[in-house]
Formats: sequence, structure tokens, C-alpha cells
Amino acid sequence: MAVPWCEPCDRFWNPSSITPHGTCPTCGQTVETPPAQSPDTRQKVPWHFWLAITAAGIYLAWRAIQGIALLF
Ligand SMILES: [Zn+2]
Repeated sequence: MAVPWCEPCDRFWNPSSITPHGTCPTCGQTVETPPAQSPDTRQKVPWHFWLAITAAGIYLAWRAIQGIALLF
């Protein structure tokens, strides 16, 4: 697993934190790993995707229950 690393700032960056050009948002240096989309990261579904789907499902179910309750 490659993590973007900025030499001048002496810190790691989250791939989504660095600029689209692959540079450090603090000092502008090119970090060692540009945020290139590797095939395995594109195929992997992030856990928060399922969290959002679950939350939407619970919300819609709750709205459906409320809608049915209004009929009585
Ligand atoms: Zn930096």
C-alpha cells in the first residue's frame, strides 16, 4: 500500500487530501505517490458507501412507516 509522503513537511497525506496535481496542499511539493487510481482501489467499495446505503434504507423505511401511520 502506497501512502503519499511529503518530504519537506515530514508527514503522510491521505490520498484525498493532496491536490489533484499530486502536490502537497501545505508546501506545494510533489508528494511521492500521486493520487493515481489503481485498479484495486476502484473495485473496492468503501465501507461508508454501505453505511450510506443502510442509512438511506432505514430513513426510507421510517418514512414509509410514518406514511402508513398517517392513514389511520
Ligand atoms: Zn508538504
